[in-house]
Amino acid sequence: MSVLTDLKKICTHTFENFSLRSLTTFKIGGIAKYVVYPEQAAQLREVFDYCIEKDLDCFVLGAGSNVLADDNGFDGVIICTKKLNQISKISPCRIRAGAGVLLSSIVRFCAAEGLTGLEWAANIPGTIGGAVVMNAGAFHGQISTVVESVTVYTSGKTEILPKSKLFFDYRHSVFTNSKNCVIMEVVLKLKKGSPEQINANIRQNVLARASTQNVGYASAGSVFKRQGKVIPARLIEECGLKGERIGDAMVSPVHSGYIVNLGKATGSQVSALIKKIKERVFNKFHEQLECEIIFLKGENKCKDS
Ligand SMILES: Cc1cc2nc3c(=O)[nH]c(=O)nc-3n(C[C@H](O)[C@H](O)[C@H](O)COP(=O)(O)OP(=O)(O)OC[C@H]3O[C@@H](n4cnc5c(N)ncnc54)[C@H](O)[C@@H]3O)c2cc1C
Repeated sequence: MSVLTDLKKICTHTFENFSLRSLTTFKIGGIAKYVVYPEQAAQLREVFDYCIEKDLDCFVLGAGSNVLADDNGFDGVIICTKKLNQISKISPCRIRAGAGVLLSSIVRFCAAEGLTGLEWAANIPGTIGGAVVMNAGAFHGQISTVVESVTVYTSGKTEILPKSKLFFDYRHSVFTNSKNCVIMEVVLKLKKGSPEQINANIRQNVLARASTQNVGYASAGSVFKRQGKVIPARLIEECGLKGERIGDAMVSPVHSGYIVNLGKATGSQVSALIKKIKERVFNKFHEQLECEIIFLKGENKCKDS
């Protein structure tokens, strides 16, 4: 039987030769050989096991909002979590969310339930699974403060990991760049708050972002990590790189920490621009910028140990 037939048996929402442009907010990338959308945790586990058994490259994708995909595509299986989108309240201050629930949906859910602690995430365009992997944050908030536990599938077993085992750091967790496990769901612990105040906080955060980060083009948000007091956007600007272009990849004139796709940017143009920025910043400030974005390319085997 073909891989496509096998995958379709596990998961009806399976596609062959699917453009990565349509799966990433950067709108960049070649063709993925297979894309599957599991609808239940059991399907997610089965697809993951199948990739290991058949030695197929595999990449777990949330909303694709922190990913730069290769122009040559991906000769393996993209497991897209977007249909794992169940959300429920499990105690007065706790909610459980499937890995693919969008942060914006969780923020709305919390506001309606009078739960505070996530307002900073209102318009970060990622899923909760991706947010845990990246320890996403903004306005002095970060996901690690509200995560209680994470259910993962790894080495053929399902495990519930408490926050103490997730080793959160700035835009980093135990899952960043790990290929041997997939997050299935997340339990968040919030605090009780007044819905009016929560909604006011959300509005304030959304307005603050609009004035500084509304870059008007496809992007993956900030390309580089902050390192202590080093703010990449400031260094990039001081190197005179605002508006710098390679093909259709451009350093945003609105926020120098973003690279935007003016329409037809390729992964290699973005990578070349990243290289140029790193070199110029290093030559001027002796600071080695580190990428926050994840590169989706080539060899990416899920491992069973
Ligand atoms: C306009 C814009 C603004 C942004 N602003 C911010 C911001 O303010 N703060 C911030 O922190 N980030 C920001 N980001 C980046 C991004 O939205 C966050 O990092 C987000 O949390 C990524 O979630 P995602 O679902 O899109 O993950 P993806 O980009 O799909 O994946 C990111 C990584 O997580 C892995 N992954 C995803 N889901 C799972 C899973 N279920 N199991 C295992 N691994 C998984 C992927 O393999 C990949 O390595 C912004 C991006 C954009 C485009």
